[in-house]
Amino acid sequence: MEFELKWVAWEITRRCNLHCVHCRSSSELEVAGHPDFPTEEAYRVLDDIATFAKPVIVLSGGEPLLRADVFDIAAYGTEKGFRMCLATNGTLVTPETCERMKAAGIRMVSLSLDGADAGVHDDFRQQPGAFDGTLNAARLFREHGIPFLVNSSFTKRNQDQIPKVYRLAKELGATAWYMFMIVPTGRGEDILEELISPEDYEEILNWHYEMERGEDELLVRPTCAPHYYRVRLQRAKEAGERVRHRTLKFSTGGAKGCLAGQLIALIDVDGNVLPCSYFPKAAGNIRKQSLREIWNESPLFKELRDFSKYKGRCGSCEYVAVCGGCRARAYAVTGDYLDEEPFCGYVPRRLRAGEGASKPGG
Ligand code: SF4
Ligand code: SF4
Repeated sequence: MEFELKWVAWEITRRCNLHCVHCRSSSELEVAGHPDFPTEEAYRVLDDIATFAKPVIVLSGGEPLLRADVFDIAAYGTEKGFRMCLATNGTLVTPETCERMKAAGIRMVSLSLDGADAGVHDDFRQQPGAFDGTLNAARLFREHGIPFLVNSSFTKRNQDQIPKVYRLAKELGATAWYMFMIVPTGRGEDILEELISPEDYEEILNWHYEMERGEDELLVRPTCAPHYYRVRLQRAKEAGERVRHRTLKFSTGGAKGCLAGQLIALIDVDGNVLPCSYFPKAAGNIRKQSLREIWNESPLFKELRDFSKYKGRCGSCEYVAVCGGCRARAYAVTGDYLDEEPFCGYVPRRLRAGEGASKPGG
């Protein structure tokens, strides 16, 4: 596998107008100690990235539309040849925003939808009116010809909504629907007990497999459910079928389950470079080093790319190279990001045969 930077989530502000239960950045309308950086710094970051990679860049937050210069940053990135995208909660989208998005060359927008009705979505987002905001944004994007994908986050609180949310995403005219089971980080740590159990997780991934087999319009993928890559292979093998693989050009190509620090990275509002949006450990800081240096030299990234260092069941697993387990969940639950994925119930062949059982966590 080549470890080329293909996708960057960039937290251009930590401010947000919502207060979601699962928020990875614990965003608020004012975030003390984590101010927005100046526009000039944003341009420097884009210049820096352009020296060695041409990733998809997702302007994210917080809520990126709270930054007055968001479209200047997007336009600069577009000029540099990046495929610029934007992740929004949708509540601030207006017809004018849509026109400015198009003018700035935004290629894809992601919207959040965590429930199939206002009661569930607004409860999850802790904001009355958030559901209507998302639906309104989807309508505006359709009217303005802006492609959008729907991201849906689930915990025990809303897991029964999964099939309904999928159907609604399709009705809204989304290009893709990404189902995401919360990774505990940021404010999400408070909801560890709300996380979907490993047994239900497995069942939901199997549901997704069935759904994906019959889905020809909407692109679908469980985000950060690396063991879906194992489930897919197992199910296809059982049925004697080939694994069907459709992918969005604004994604990483789906080379493998967990891509943290391998094809993707997050740059936070303070310039820290992290393996992904849910992995609260920095590999370096772009105010002190170039991104190229961090990407190529950081010990953390090197460790994440060395699958032979993985421990527990992941370390013994025949699927490690296609799955890899969620390193952020391992970190949140065990304190060791190389440990086994705590939300996968699979027992690798080697361990069933009694080999490798003395490995830590195995
Ligand atoms: S044990 Fe780890 S590598 Fe194997 S399928 Fe589960 S999460 Fe993936
Ligand atoms: S560690 Fe990997 S699977 Fe987990 S949230 Fe990050 S990218 Fe996703």
